Amino acid sequence: MNIRSDIPLAPYTTFMIGGPADFFCVVSSEEELVAMIRRAHDGKLPVFILGKGSNILVADEGFRGIVIKNEIRGMEFGSEDNGVVCVTVGAGETWDDLVAETVRRNLHGIENLAAIPGTVGAAPVQNIGAYGVEIASTLVSVRVLDTTTLAYVEFSNKECQFAYRDSRFKHEKGRYVIVQVTLRLVKGGKTDIGYKDLKDFFTGKNESPGIKEVRDAVIGIRGNKLPDWKRIGTAGSFFKNPIISKNQFEKLSAQYPGLPGYPTKDAQLIKVPLGWILDNICEAKGLRMGPVGTYEKQALVIVAQPGSSAAAVINFQNELIRRVKERTGIQVEREVEWVG
Ligand SMILES: Cc1cc2nc3c(=O)[nH]c(=O)nc-3n(C[C@H](O)[C@H](O)[C@H](O)COP(=O)(O)OP(=O)(O)OC[C@H]3O[C@@H](n4cnc5c(N)ncnc54)[C@H](O)[C@@H]3O)c2cc1C
Repeated sequence: MNIRSDIPLAPYTTFMIGGPADFFCVVSSEEELVAMIRRAHDGKLPVFILGKGSNILVADEGFRGIVIKNEIRGMEFGSEDNGVVCVTVGAGETWDDLVAETVRRNLHGIENLAAIPGTVGAAPVQNIGAYGVEIASTLVSVRVLDTTTLAYVEFSNKECQFAYRDSRFKHEKGRYVIVQVTLRLVKGGKTDIGYKDLKDFFTGKNESPGIKEVRDAVIGIRGNKLPDWKRIGTAGSFFKNPIISKNQFEKLSAQYPGLPGYPTKDAQLIKVPLGWILDNICEAKGLRMGPVGTYEKQALVIVAQPGSSAAAVINFQNELIRRVKERTGIQVEREVEWVG
């Protein structure tokens, strides 16, 4: 294991922003991970576990501690049992490679989550979701290193405490490092095209598309709506969609007709699309402050030009938070994690 010092983090993030980590290393096995955490404990160094850096914003000052980049790989498909196939995947695998492989095998479950950047290990952290599906709906278990005991343990789906863009791994930040994820997929299973964009895409063309057709549609829709993160600095949706009371929703929709609202598991709570609020209420579509702005096709996405700083992103974030609060009373919450 090669521990390097003073390593700029910007190239390891999709925002392409951020100062240096004091120490940086890559781990590719469970043994290396334990050894590295032990060394960090011995040196009293804060640890940050890095995947592909697609959901973080690193401070301009960088990170005073050790960044451990997880590259533990492997993808093992179990045998089919009554149409069900389980796959166990190393945390360092690329999420979209996994989606592609499951689709190639005609396995249903995660095709709606195509083209989300990032690693398999980070996917349960914020319970990635898109087009009406979350990883929580297929996840069987995760294998994690408990950094307080240095023992490997397994958590069931329930023990992960999944919620909208949330899990126990966010609440017990830094305690667990995910090394493996097991998903349950269904051979040739029925696809889910209930989400509006997908429904619109298939209506009149194909009412029961196959798994590959859904993946291709998702890739196409995302390509039209989201910036190309390989070229433009971004971490996708910068904020979570707010979940507000039914009462507050009714008041806001009387004030702003057309405000969409989506039911949640709790009948008293409604999820509202923040992109719509930013576009239609906060005049934030295409808003710019210097090198940072909202993406012209989706105001929920913040984009930053090369050479911009974390400070400029935070400045812009604060302006959006202020506008939303002032005009709707909603306090928005960041989805992207601050590292510094
Ligand atoms: C253009 C674009 C579109 C996006 N679209 C979506 C979308 O549709 N839906 C969605 O949910 N997200 C989306 N995202 C956000 C992001 O891709 C996901 O959150 C992804 O899962 C992050 O993976 P990562 O490997 O890059 O994690 P990182 O950004 O490296 O890390 C994110 C967090 O996970 C932790 N972490 C990483 N690996 C591990 C591990 N092995 N064990 C424990 N903790 C770990 C990190 O410490 C950090 O707290 C998008 C991002 C971009 C840039």
